[in-house]
Amino acid sequence: MSGRYAPSPSGPLHLGNLRTALIAWLQARLAAMPFILRMEDLDLPRVKPGSSEQIIADLRWLGLDWDEGASITNPGSGGPSAPYAQSARNPFYQKAFQQLLDKDLIYPCYCSRKDIQQAASAPHLHENGPIYPGTCRDPEMRAEMERRHPDKPAAWRYRAPARTIEFEDRLVGRVSQTLDREVGDFVIKRADGLFAYQLAVVVDDGLMGITDVVRGADLLDSTARQIELFEALDYLIPNFWHVPLMLDAQGARLSKRDGSDSLELWRQQGKSAEAVIGFLAHSVGLIDRDCSISARELVQELTLEGLRQRLVVAARE
Ligand code: GLU
Repeated sequence: MSGRYAPSPSGPLHLGNLRTALIAWLQARLAAMPFILRMEDLDLPRVKPGSSEQIIADLRWLGLDWDEGASITNPGSGGPSAPYAQSARNPFYQKAFQQLLDKDLIYPCYCSRKDIQQAASAPHLHENGPIYPGTCRDPEMRAEMERRHPDKPAAWRYRAPARTIEFEDRLVGRVSQTLDREVGDFVIKRADGLFAYQLAVVVDDGLMGITDVVRGADLLDSTARQIELFEALDYLIPNFWHVPLMLDAQGARLSKRDGSDSLELWRQQGKSAEAVIGFLAHSVGLIDRDCSISARELVQELTLEGLRQRLVVAARE
């Protein structure tokens, strides 16, 4: 049994990211299981130099610790499931890719963005644009697309089965998604050669023996796809805890880009780690008053079921 926090080092963590980190840490500590820090630095074009180190320093400053995973001096090492940085885990993704290929669950796709938009007269929209109409699923159509784009390297897509995935999120409750209709054939390896988040996260959680995935509710929509991959790769399917995202005063999601909710700003204003932990915990209903409290003290205040119940209430709001 183990839990994890898996930040993307694309900039400093904002308070919303830190709140998710705190909840993931609390969940693992209250369940008395190892906690892993994994750097999701796979999308190299988006990685900001120095960001991993900053994330590690910020988590440490807040009093959040981990039993395995990235450290400042050696982001790749730190335990039996090393390396803990996705950029160093390509051989594992390659192996999983081969397994999916052997089972004929994936196929190369030569379509451009424009092709996808044009292929369906009224394309169904998914979070990242239109649902892929399945053009390259058909070998003849694929050959035609390859002819049309002779210089375009292929992306690889997973054949979304006509199957409804149902799961019980520990916080959100029952969730169901029909893969072919609501998701479509999704990319597991991008045309630029990078493995997609959807594949990497499943391989990592599977191989690291993660039993509880605690993360932001923005990833709820990815979960059915990931369950499909967990099964296809014969890994244990973890429990999912999708925690509410922190919103700004206007009700918008926080973004890493504008930096207005960075820990650095709070630190410059003289706030202590305990004041930040107290604010974060109170903002999601884990404590009744906004007071100074250390992460360790917070563990003493809560039980695992108490944590879950308070988060269920916050998730409903
Ligand atoms: N790396 C992702 C993020 O920072 C989280 C992925 C996950 O927890 O599954 O949003």
